[in-house]
Amino acid sequence: MGVLTKKVKGAEDILPRDSYKWQFVENVMKKEAESFGFKEIRTPVFEHTVLFNRSVGETTDVVQKEMYTFDTKGGESITLRPEGTAGAARAYLEHALYNEGLPVKAYYMLTCYRYEKAQAGRQREFHQFGMETYGAADAKADAEMICAASSVFERLGIQNINLEINSIGCQDCRKNYTAALKSYFEGYKDKLCPTCLSRLDRNPMRILDCKNEACHEIAKGAPTVLEYICGDCSDHFERVKTFLDAADVDYTVNPTIVRGLDYYTRTVFEFVTDCIGAQSTVCGGGRYDGLISELGGQPTPSLGFAMGIERLLMVLEAQNIEIPKPSTCDLYIAALGENAEIKSFRLIKELREASLIAEGDIVGRGLRAQMKYADKIGAKFSMVIGDDDITANKAKIKNMANGEQFEVPLDEGFLNAFLEKYLENYQKTISMSLTQN
Ligand code: ATP
Ligand code: MG
Repeated sequence: MGVLTKKVKGAEDILPRDSYKWQFVENVMKKEAESFGFKEIRTPVFEHTVLFNRSVGETTDVVQKEMYTFDTKGGESITLRPEGTAGAARAYLEHALYNEGLPVKAYYMLTCYRYEKAQAGRQREFHQFGMETYGAADAKADAEMICAASSVFERLGIQNINLEINSIGCQDCRKNYTAALKSYFEGYKDKLCPTCLSRLDRNPMRILDCKNEACHEIAKGAPTVLEYICGDCSDHFERVKTFLDAADVDYTVNPTIVRGLDYYTRTVFEFVTDCIGAQSTVCGGGRYDGLISELGGQPTPSLGFAMGIERLLMVLEAQNIEIPKPSTCDLYIAALGENAEIKSFRLIKELREASLIAEGDIVGRGLRAQMKYADKIGAKFSMVIGDDDITANKAKIKNMANGEQFEVPLDEGFLNAFLEKYLENYQKTISMSLTQN
């Protein structure tokens, strides 16, 4: 197979046989977000490069190494979004969403692009579900955001996913912490990776997040942020915990979490699991009070999270969580002869108008092959009609599960006659599964 028939490394196809899993989790996410009062936002796949430089931060891995950046024919620098927060914040400002009343709550589901080493749980094109709240300074907003992410895992029946929280303080108290970190890491200058060396002056907190083994080891001994945060930040953090307790959301405080993006302040959090290998963070988020003003808006306390959908699906698989299979064809009509084909085409349309899944032959197969196909697609019922049946104005429908047959008229009475039997059988299975539970 040549380059024409191969996907780009680090990108994945979602095939018809698997897409129901995506639709299922996306539906859960959508419902949860909406139950918290969030509305969907959709932003472009690409943005001006400078947006990410400014919001994600010049010293982050994402900006330094991972962005898909290119110049357009017009000479503009454009970047495929590596995450969703920057674009949503840009749209919030561009469309003055703050005029619609604060807080503004938005959720998104989108593809992201990062030039990373592709491996299980780490792709170059991947999907994120995320939520953002603009204009909410209270610790309750932090707790609500964390609850929203947590409720997605809960709805899906996921277990053993741990919530780890931390506070990285505000711009003010972080100054002291940054100074402490700087003097700590100065002592290891000869062992840090080149990227971290450059971070030492500009943003030593980033070193805590470095994936390089040596840097990681050194970081373990670094001073922790909670010793340095100011009274206000400390009170805020305590209040977040109070509300998490009120909602029965379990957490552990992990002072090493700093998150990979520059815009975070105060609360940061991750949901981590040990069931999907090395890429163990399924969701990350926090408060970013400085971002909106960084992008030229009024200071607007804001916060959010992003969840990796690929990693979430890996968790479901690892925990053997069954995703309901999509509905199959309700009635397959096999037809033989021109008149029967025309008739079935019409009946199929009626079935679809009644919101049923109906199919018939569209490739000109013989009867036996049509029935084989009906079996293959898992049709619940099938019907065979020939030109004789049209004359007699009736035909037999077969329940594919138990072989039972019943007769239906082929005129206006068709739909009702089928529906009656269909519902009888369908309700039977529903009540059976209810009594089994
Ligand atoms: P990591 O430490 O794994 O690189 P990150 O800190 O770069 O993650 P975020 O920018 O916080 O990740 O993105 C939020 C979530 O998006 C992650 O927790 C993860 O589930 C998912 N994610 C991030 N990068 C990738 C990727 N390359 N492939 C698949 N999922 C990803
Ligand atoms: Mg990363």
